[in-house]
Amino acid sequence: MIEARACVGLGANLGDTRAVLEAAYAQLQQLPGSRRHRCSPWFSSAPVDSSGPDYLNAVACFDTTLSPHALLEALQAIERSHGRERPYRNAPRTLDLDLLLYGDQQIETTALAVPHPRMHERAFVLLPLVALLPDAVIPGRGTVSTLMATVAGQSVWRAD
Ligand code: ADP
Ligand code: MG
Repeated sequence: MIEARACVGLGANLGDTRAVLEAAYAQLQQLPGSRRHRCSPWFSSAPVDSSGPDYLNAVACFDTTLSPHALLEALQAIERSHGRERPYRNAPRTLDLDLLLYGDQQIETTALAVPHPRMHERAFVLLPLVALLPDAVIPGRGTVSTLMATVAGQSVWRAD
């Protein structure tokens, strides 16, 4: 069985965001075929291309034998367990789980794009990611530490 390191972005801006993200991280730790889970510190961010209250964000990573598509389905099931609805694009959400990285793979299918296509331009992804994995590389985009300079103007702050 092939094992890859997956990184998942967690975000929430409705309800008790801290409780939701803590519960979601606990659910990630229960995923079959997955081990060595780690989670970044919490960060807050103002909504980008979105509306509503500030977001709470984090990045989790773990080693998994789940395939990328199986992992995406598992993430969507966790979102649904928190009552996620998709009334319109970029609507406020109780929980958003994005598959950011899956090893060094680049994947383009109708259901799944990895690396997540907007992660390299979002400070609320890059700051927690670099806190967790200082040497992280986004395939096709470069090192996270280099990309950090391009998002310096965005409003993201440590939440703890
Ligand atoms: P966003 O996170 O961009 O605000 P959604 O969470 O509503 O939007 O996701 C919309 C769709 O994006 C999902 O149905 C999923 O199939 C697709 N998608 C493509 N690539 C990814 C990825 N890497 N992680 C999560 N969803 C993805
Ligand atoms: Mg998403």
